[in-house]
Amino acid sequence: MNSITFSDSNESIRVGKILCLGRNYPEHAREMKAELPENPIVFLKPATALVQSGQNVQFPSYSNEMHHEVEMVVLIGKTGRNIPKESAEEYIAGYGIGLDMTLRDIQSEAKKRGLPWSVSKGFDSSAPVSHFVEKGAVSNPHILGISLTVNGIVRQRSNTREMLFPVDRIIAYLSSVFTLERGDLIFTGTPEGVGPVSRGDVLTAELESVGSLTVTIV
Ligand code: MG
Repeated sequence: MNSITFSDSNESIRVGKILCLGRNYPEHAREMKAELPENPIVFLKPATALVQSGQNVQFPSYSNEMHHEVEMVVLIGKTGRNIPKESAEEYIAGYGIGLDMTLRDIQSEAKKRGLPWSVSKGFDSSAPVSHFVEKGAVSNPHILGISLTVNGIVRQRSNTREMLFPVDRIIAYLSSVFTLERGDLIFTGTPEGVGPVSRGDVLTAELESVGSLTVTIV
């Protein structure tokens, strides 16, 4: 199902587009040996990439290197275009935690050849997400501990305060390019510590005040 659910209600919202930021944590840009961007780096995943907590991530046969990237996810609640940063908060419906699963070998080749990232980032099951919480449950999205374990071992641990572009600026920027609609998701970028996963690994992501997500690689 291409939809998200809330942890405290039966409501579900159909997901439209999934907008993702690259290099939004300086330490991650550093580990990728990449420069910090002046404007957000944006790519898209299709809604068919979604999987829910408890489901599996399929390791595609055409890749030999899949990486985990844990990210805070913002759910858009209403339609907007050219949203000023000052009103961005009105357009947020809630928050979740997600994994931007990435085929690093295919992405590296694409970067080298100047080709798009759609295959490396948008393949089926590349976007696991948790249940969402209403935005009222999060007093400030920029003070949240974020972490990822693989088979119980911590691989990524940071705080959303480290984000280069905060959520209001992300929404202002994205809405200057794309009309945002209820059900759109924004993956806000990953902190440092990304790395490879193998079939059989169990990944658990946690975002303070929001919740957790567990998937198995198959
Ligand atoms: Mg990412």
